[in-house]
Amino acid sequence: SVRVRFAPSPTGQVHIGNIRAAIFNWLFARHEGGSFLLRIEDTDLERSTPEAIATLLEVMEWLGLAFDEKPPLYQTSQVQKHLAAAERLLAAGDAYRDAKGGGGEAIVFRIPFAAERIPGVSSVGTVDVPVHPEIPVQVNGKGVDYAGISKKGTPAPGGCCLAGCLDLQVLDAAEQVLFTLAGKEDAILRDGAEFSVPGAAILRFTRRVISYHDEVKGDMSKPLDSMRDVVIVRSDGSPVFHLANVVDDITQGITHIIRGDDHVENTFRHIMLFSCLGAVVPTYAHLPMIVNAAGKPYSKRDGDAFVGDFRDNGFVADALFNYLSLLGWSPGDDREKMSRQELTAAFSLSRVLHASAQMDIQKLTNLNGQYIAEMPADEFLAVSRDWLKRYPWVSAVSDSQLQAVCALMQSRVKRFADLEQWSYFFVDVPEYDEKVCVKQLKDPAVRAALQAISALFAALPDFAAAGIESAIQAACDQAGLAHGKLNQPLRAAVTGSGVGAGIYETVELLGRERSLARLKIALE
Ligand code: GLU
Repeated sequence: SVRVRFAPSPTGQVHIGNIRAAIFNWLFARHEGGSFLLRIEDTDLERSTPEAIATLLEVMEWLGLAFDEKPPLYQTSQVQKHLAAAERLLAAGDAYRDAKGGGGEAIVFRIPFAAERIPGVSSVGTVDVPVHPEIPVQVNGKGVDYAGISKKGTPAPGGCCLAGCLDLQVLDAAEQVLFTLAGKEDAILRDGAEFSVPGAAILRFTRRVISYHDEVKGDMSKPLDSMRDVVIVRSDGSPVFHLANVVDDITQGITHIIRGDDHVENTFRHIMLFSCLGAVVPTYAHLPMIVNAAGKPYSKRDGDAFVGDFRDNGFVADALFNYLSLLGWSPGDDREKMSRQELTAAFSLSRVLHASAQMDIQKLTNLNGQYIAEMPADEFLAVSRDWLKRYPWVSAVSDSQLQAVCALMQSRVKRFADLEQWSYFFVDVPEYDEKVCVKQLKDPAVRAALQAISALFAALPDFAAAGIESAIQAACDQAGLAHGKLNQPLRAAVTGSGVGAGIYETVELLGRERSLARLKIALE
């Protein structure tokens, strides 16, 4: 059955790109009835502190990303297995010791030359030709310089076709030799290039490639001669990411690897490691990157980027989960608000989008507003009360007052952080927004009308929305102003702000005493 994992390297903050990979893994596992595992890749001892790991676990819990098979696998606990795997690769000749780095000897994985023996890897042709260094070689009819021949078993690390030359592996009848065709544009051997050596037929050169099918990106391939051997154990004896990652995936029996497409390049090497370690190569799905409006990788500079930021700004976990599920995946219709059950039922890797996914905070904020609006009123009240604890001014707020204000705010608040903008309900003197107040309160006729409203308010027998509304309209009539013209100036005077709920309800909730006091301050 399906076994997937989230394998973060804890750093103390969890980027939404990483958590989205976790969400996709979770949805896939739940959809398939499989297991969702957590592996903590904590080998960077400086960054993977206990606090960083705690943050990671907290964030996952907050988002409801429950994982199976507790406790999670800590990569640092697996070092012996990693090293044993390296020994097996050495014994099989798939890896060699290398002392070049200084210190002790590193262990290096050889990108297998004989790709044929790797299941799932297509190796297409090689050039079989009797060659000798003294014999001029022609490529596409032109002579080329070639520098150096090395003997079998020592393929030079890395091809360098991008730099203008290419390591060409040629099989002699007797032994395998390696030519380095240096320099010149002409010397680049492209696929299908023909080359000839006196006394031999014209031969077509085809690069050997390693290929795999990516559930998202389709058929992927990479020429072996563009790859380098891979250090798998450092000279200090510590396993390198590639080895640890693959060995742990084998240990955990992972069937599908769903992760960010920044790992595509690694995948080619990982496939070879899986094969040489005798394991079945998992199915891969690489997720498109999350980008900003300019198409660049989305980062902290673009706005909230860590899961903790969203939590601290009063986003609802379900809303963030919903939004991130649709970032690079689509249910195939235009649904945007989907519950976990709906997401789980609809999820499939085949609907992961190919194009990079653009983060749109505004859209997320609006979705969050919908989740808040649909909360049961008592839940909204409870979360608000908790949230408001962070503000010193809130101490004096009574329960009934808070309840009344919450009823007014719930449909208007998009994030709990917005509650701060409603502080005027809870303090004696609001913070006056200079710009709004100057604009709304500069006209002497308006100021006179607000004075009149003050007198009318003072005389109202019952300070409730209906009476307040009539008083405001009476003041408009007296001043020869259309109804509604005094609403914004009054709002500025009593709340200090340009936005809020309906003005009649707002004034009622503020109460007579505070409304009159604030009108007085504003009109001084
Ligand atoms: N620790 C790696 C990362 O966070 C794991 C990648 C993976 O294989 O999922 O990038």
